[in-house]
Amino acid sequence: MFKKKSLGQHFLTSTHYLSLITDTAHITPGERVLEIGPGEGALTHELLSRGAIVVAIEKDHRLIPVLEEKFQHEIAEGKLQLIENDVLRFDISSHLQGTYKLVANIPYYITGAILEKFLSASLQPTSMTLLVQKEVAERIAREKKESILSLSVKAYGTPRYIKTVPRGAFSPPPEVDSAILAIENISRNNFKSAAHEKKFFDLLHAGFAHKRKLLKRNLESAVGREYSDILKNTRIRENARAEDVSLEQWLVLVESSL
Ligand code: SAM
Repeated sequence: MFKKKSLGQHFLTSTHYLSLITDTAHITPGERVLEIGPGEGALTHELLSRGAIVVAIEKDHRLIPVLEEKFQHEIAEGKLQLIENDVLRFDISSHLQGTYKLVANIPYYITGAILEKFLSASLQPTSMTLLVQKEVAERIAREKKESILSLSVKAYGTPRYIKTVPRGAFSPPPEVDSAILAIENISRNNFKSAAHEKKFFDLLHAGFAHKRKLLKRNLESAVGREYSDILKNTRIRENARAEDVSLEQWLVLVESSL
């Protein structure tokens, strides 16, 4: 079957990295796992072999009969549920109840949308173990030079850069290197209310609106109020840029702005 580049079809063929992904996810038998894009089932097989109960969503209809054939026993035993759908249209709560982990070699063209959908969902996974583009994993997990993406992830969980995965571990090889990214301890404990959560994202987008401008100027032009005192109270330098401000400081800034 020819692989569709438009669907990010780079299948992982290295058994070493397949088991590193499942090791990272700390799968225990009977645990529920959501997999995005099972492809030809390499990671699905690894997850099932660790005793996971898997729900897998695949957009490419051509792969469904391949997966049904390969996993006929697991499907019959209720260990695997296959869903043909676009993950971005998938209604989480109608297929999952209680706790679950997200484990996937995701299509890179929708990395941001997947992170946003599952981190902000009312039924969040407890952890995510994802293969993503190497630069994206680095940008999310590093301590310095924050971005809207890194702060959005850190607001809900603890990201960790696990391991670089070379392009040769895939068939066909992608044009970029990849990395295993873990996001653990996912919750909305950083937010005191839905209003706090909303305000956090509103301010984050306002603060990063013009990259070259100081945070203070960006906030003042978006929110229409003086920010000198608020910044002083939250111990943020007057001449800081949005990328210099830590998650903890953003959270205090948001509370002071409510
Ligand atoms: N899990 C397999 C592996 O590791 O070898 C395949 C991973 S491949 C990088 C990404 C998979 O996601 C492909 O099977 C592709 O068809 C599927 N896919 C792409 N876009 C999708 C979407 N919007 N929703 C669900 N699956 C999607």
